[in-house]
Amino acid sequence: MIIFDNHFHVDPFKGLFLEAVKEFHKAGGTHLNVVYKSAHDYGFEGVKAEDFMKAMDFHISLVERINKETPVKAFAVVGVHPAEFVHLAEKKGVEYAKNKVMKALEYAQKLCLEGKAIAIGEIGRPHYEVPGEIWEASIELMKYGMELAKEADCAVQLHTESFNEEKFRELGAIVKEVGIKPYKVVKHYSPPLVKVAEEVGVFPSILASEKALMEALMQGSRFLMETDYIDDKKRPGAVLGPKTVPKRTKAFLQQGLMDEETAYKIHVENPKKVYDVEIDE
Ligand SMILES: [Zn+2]
Repeated sequence: MIIFDNHFHVDPFKGLFLEAVKEFHKAGGTHLNVVYKSAHDYGFEGVKAEDFMKAMDFHISLVERINKETPVKAFAVVGVHPAEFVHLAEKKGVEYAKNKVMKALEYAQKLCLEGKAIAIGEIGRPHYEVPGEIWEASIELMKYGMELAKEADCAVQLHTESFNEEKFRELGAIVKEVGIKPYKVVKHYSPPLVKVAEEVGVFPSILASEKALMEALMQGSRFLMETDYIDDKKRPGAVLGPKTVPKRTKAFLQQGLMDEETAYKIHVENPKKVYDVEIDE
C-alpha cells in the first residue's frame, strides 16, 4: 500500500534525519515530499541569492540521500520560506530582500525544470504580523512564485497565516489572476475546508490529526495529507511526528472511517495529479 506525506522536513543538524524517514517507513509510509527548511537551518547565511541557492542544492542532496539510503521514495520541494524573506527585509530593506528572493525563486524553478524538485515551496506570507510594506511584498513574491510554477508547469506549496473560508476566497482570486492550474496550488497546513478549496481552485494539504482528517473526509477526497514534521529534537511535540500519516491512515481504514478507494485517491491519484510524478509500489 502506498502512503504519501505531503509536507515533511528533515534536519541533519538538529533532527533525526534518516532515522525519522525510517520511522515513517516502519509505520507503513512509502512516499514523502521533503520540503526545504531555511538557509539558516542548513548552515548558510540567507543574505545573498547565492545563499538560498546553495541551501536548495544542499536540500536536494538530503533528498538524494533519503532515496539512496532508505526504502522511501522522496521528492524535493524548494523555495524561500516567507519567514526568511521577512528576516532579510528587516535586516537589509524590502527592496533588497525582494530582489534576492526573486532570484532564489527563479533558481527553484530551474530545479523543477531539471526534474530535481517537483514543486516550489514553501512560499507565501508570514503567519505572524509584519509591517504593511513587508506584507505587500510577501504577496508579490507569492504571486511571482506562482507565475514561475505556472511557466514550468509545476506545483507550489503555500505557507500562510491561519486560514478560513474568507482567506480561501481571497487566495482563489490570486490563483485566478495568475492563471495557474487550480490543482497546482497546494495550501500547506490547510484547515479541512475541502469543498471551499475546490470551489476557489486550491488543493488543500490537511494536517493528519484525527479531527481534521475526519472533517475533511466528510467533504470528499480531494486533498493531500501531511504532518509538517519539523525534525527538531528540541521541539518534539511542536508538530505531528514522522509516523502520523501512515498510522492515521491505517487506523482510519481499520475502523472503517476511510475506504480503500479513498485512501488510494489521497495517497496515489491526488499526488500524481498535483505533482505529475510516478507513484509506484
Ligand atoms: Zn513546513
